[in-house]
Amino acid sequence: MWFKKRKGIQRPATGMKIEMPDGMWLKCPGCGELVYRREVQDNLKVCPKCNYHFKLTAPERCHLIFDNGEYTEVDTELYPTDPLKFVDSKKYRDRLKEHQAKTNMADAVLNARGKIGGWSVMVSVMDFRFMGGSMGSVVGEKVTRAFERAGKENIPMITIASTGGARMQEGMLSLMQMAKTSQAAARFGLTGNLFVSVLADPSTAGVMASFAMLGDIIVAEPKALVGFAGPRVIKETIGEELPEGFQSAEFVQEHGFIDIVVERKHLKQVLGDLLTFFAPDKSTAPDETAQEAASTAQEAHVTTKADD
Ligand SMILES: [Zn+2]
Repeated sequence: MWFKKRKGIQRPATGMKIEMPDGMWLKCPGCGELVYRREVQDNLKVCPKCNYHFKLTAPERCHLIFDNGEYTEVDTELYPTDPLKFVDSKKYRDRLKEHQAKTNMADAVLNARGKIGGWSVMVSVMDFRFMGGSMGSVVGEKVTRAFERAGKENIPMITIASTGGARMQEGMLSLMQMAKTSQAAARFGLTGNLFVSVLADPSTAGVMASFAMLGDIIVAEPKALVGFAGPRVIKETIGEELPEGFQSAEFVQEHGFIDIVVERKHLKQVLGDLLTFFAPDKSTAPDETAQEAASTAQEAHVTTKADD
C-alpha cells in the first residue's frame, strides 16, 4: 500500500511507490493495441501510440497537479453511511466496504490543499474507482466543504470530475447533493475567487448537472466523455444516429460548453497559468524561481494499475 490515511500529512512526491507487475501489458481502449505498462506509466498513464488518457486515481491526480506532488488531505473524517439500508444485488454497506478496501479511500472524492504554480489552492478530486465516482452524501458534503474553505481562505478552488453521476444507493439524499454543491459553488463565486472545473473521462449525469458545469473556466482532458445522459440513452430516446464525436470533450468544446481541452502533460502548467492570470492581486504572486523549480522538479510518476 502506498497511500496511508493520515490526517494533515504532506505527502512528498518521492513517496509514491509504483505498483507494476513485471511483463504486464495493457490493451489500450483507444487504439486496441497492446502497450507496455511501463511505457504508459512513464507517459502519465497516456497511451504512447494513440494518446488515449487512462483514468487516474485521485491521489495520482493530486500528485500530478500539485507543486512537487505535495498536498495535505483534508476532511478525512467523513465516512458514508447507509441511510436507506439499500440492497440491490449486494448490500450497499458491503459495497462501500469493498470499495474502501480496494481504493483506500473513505468515499469517491479527495479534498486537498496545496500549491499549484506557487499559488495556494483547494482541490476536490473524484476517483472513478470508487463506485464509478458517484456522488452520494459524503461526496456532496466534501465538495461543499472545499468550496466553503476556499471561500473563507480567499483562495481559488479546483474540482476534477471523473464520475457517472449520482449514487443511486442513496436515492434522494444523493440527488440533494446537486443542489447543495451548486449553491456552494454560487456562494463561493460571490467571494470573487476563481473556480476551475476540470472534466476527466467520464464526466456525466448528476455531477455535470451541478457543480462541474459551474466553473468560471471549464477544462477537459482529450476525448473525455462529457454530457448528462450517455450517448446510448440519447440514441434510443430520439431514435436517430448521433453525430460523429458526440459528447467527446472536443465536440462539447466546439459547442461552447468547454473552454480548453488540455493534454494531461500540460494540465499542471495550464492550471498554474490560469491561477496567475486570474489572480486578483498580482503583487502577492509567488516568486518565479520557486514556480519554475516546482514545475521542473516534478517527475510525475503515477501507478498503472489496470483501469476499472
Ligand atoms: Zn492507444
